[in-house]
Amino acid sequence: MRYFLQLLGLASALGVGSALNPAVSASTSIATSLGSLNLTAGAACACNKLSTSYPKQYISPSSPNYNEQATNYWDVRADLSPACIFMPKTADQVAAAVMIFVQCDSQFAIPGSNNIDGGVLLAFNEMTRYKVNKETIEVQPGMTWYDVYSALDPYGRTAIGGRLKTIGVPGLTLIGGVSYYINKYGFAMDNVASYDIVLGNGTLTTASATANPDLFWALKGGASNYGIVTKFTLRTYSMPRISTTIQIFNETSTSAFSQAICDWAVGNSDSPVAAGSVITMTYNTTTKQMSSSLLGVQAGTSNPPSEFRNFTAIPGVSKTHNVTTGKQWASNLDTPKQMFRVMFSHHSMTPDADVFTTMIETWKNAVKDIADVKGLNPTFVANISPASAARVAKTNGIGNVWGLEDEALIWWQLSTSWELPQDDLRVQTWARHLTEHLHELNKQNGLAREFVYMGDAGEWQEPFAGFPPANVQRMKEIRAAYDPKGAFSRLNWGGFKLGY
Ligand SMILES: Cc1cc2nc3c(=O)[nH]c(=O)nc-3n(C[C@H](O)[C@H](O)[C@H](O)COP(=O)(O)OP(=O)(O)OC[C@H]3O[C@@H](n4cnc5c(N)ncnc54)[C@H](O)[C@@H]3O)c2cc1C
Repeated sequence: MRYFLQLLGLASALGVGSALNPAVSASTSIATSLGSLNLTAGAACACNKLSTSYPKQYISPSSPNYNEQATNYWDVRADLSPACIFMPKTADQVAAAVMIFVQCDSQFAIPGSNNIDGGVLLAFNEMTRYKVNKETIEVQPGMTWYDVYSALDPYGRTAIGGRLKTIGVPGLTLIGGVSYYINKYGFAMDNVASYDIVLGNGTLTTASATANPDLFWALKGGASNYGIVTKFTLRTYSMPRISTTIQIFNETSTSAFSQAICDWAVGNSDSPVAAGSVITMTYNTTTKQMSSSLLGVQAGTSNPPSEFRNFTAIPGVSKTHNVTTGKQWASNLDTPKQMFRVMFSHHSMTPDADVFTTMIETWKNAVKDIADVKGLNPTFVANISPASAARVAKTNGIGNVWGLEDEALIWWQLSTSWELPQDDLRVQTWARHLTEHLHELNKQNGLAREFVYMGDAGEWQEPFAGFPPANVQRMKEIRAAYDPKGAFSRLNWGGFKLGY
């Protein structure tokens, strides 16, 4: 998911490179090729204090590495012009920065996917230290999942995290986290043993089952509403070898592929082999052909991986099975930066193969309405949330803010990328209307569920509305207790915010 804040309403597409190479201003404006971007007094104040107190950690718009940071994004729509960039090295420096943001009333954002026009970008590139313990790994927020898998590789262990290489640990872990081992270990958030977190008053504290347990619960899915996490202690599991499969199918297999997805989602075992997938349908607007793909991973050495036998049985265009390590598998799954504009949107449903096939057909036909959009790459994704994953939180004595029922879900998602800013509104409106149309049809046939995963959601969607209302109320009470002045509701942007 990609979020960014256009603080001053400047056009989002400043472009890459020279357009994002503003001359440094004194304190209240920076020059861009689109004109002068006026900074709020808050951002100017915060940048001045940060540059004075931490000159080595401070990047101004004229610094040589400013552009590299301001444009380090998957989605080019997130290329914005922060007033300055601060790269803390330690949790104490994060705490000092939060105090400065509050004193100055300065807006700020945290990348991965977020950027900010005219505010402070708080980037964790220099907080990438880790410590491997017997059954946990302590991780700073600048690490990607590939960094984590690499750190654990010599020990034959893994953590429960992202499926693609470049995704950051903090965002994914705080919003939930779908992994390759979901059906046994649940979500990434369910596997965090403790969080070190800087609160809105600048204090550094710990949230665990025994320290601040209410905050511990709220951080399991509560996103960026409570503070800045400076260390995640993640549980690790023995995973010396994994069995992987990559399978590609053509359009004639769509209905069998849908059936295999639904069977996989429902599963058939109370103690499953740890396994997970990336399932994608792609429509090529040039050839007018659709293809489907499965990336499947499971613990152990069964080759091909047994959990995906229903897919393996379908004749396909290509099938590649392998036994490897988590690090080696992840090393090949790169996600490009600066290639396109992209948006997600999704809803949840209980599995039904006939309905799912109809949804894919409906999507494919709808793509024809925007087929002339330059660089269009439309995909339909099926993320699987098995009942066994929901059960982890129900039985571990901690829970999470989602409160998912004990049932299998398919989180179906449109992921649509395109090239030009002139098509932004068209693609966004198309995706929104189609997503809500498909959800409405599922409501009518009793398959729809209101849970919306933040990692797959569209910018207009309201994930908190799909949580149990009692959980949302409790989350708000915990926020009021830990951030009474609303530092993270008023000043920090990106991701989904709990409402009033
Ligand atoms: C190519 C791609 C692949 C993906 N694959 C997966 C996947 O396999 N599984 C899955 O579950 N999701 C996946 N996602 C969705 C992904 O989980 C979200 O985009 C997630 O937000 C990425 O996390 P991030 O750390 O990169 O940070 P961001 O997206 O930048 O951050 C998300 C939120 O967390 C906040 N935040 C960041 N750091 C901190 C911190 N230290 N303390 C407090 N708040 C913080 C940010 O302010 C923001 O609100 C994928 C997304 C993409 C684009």
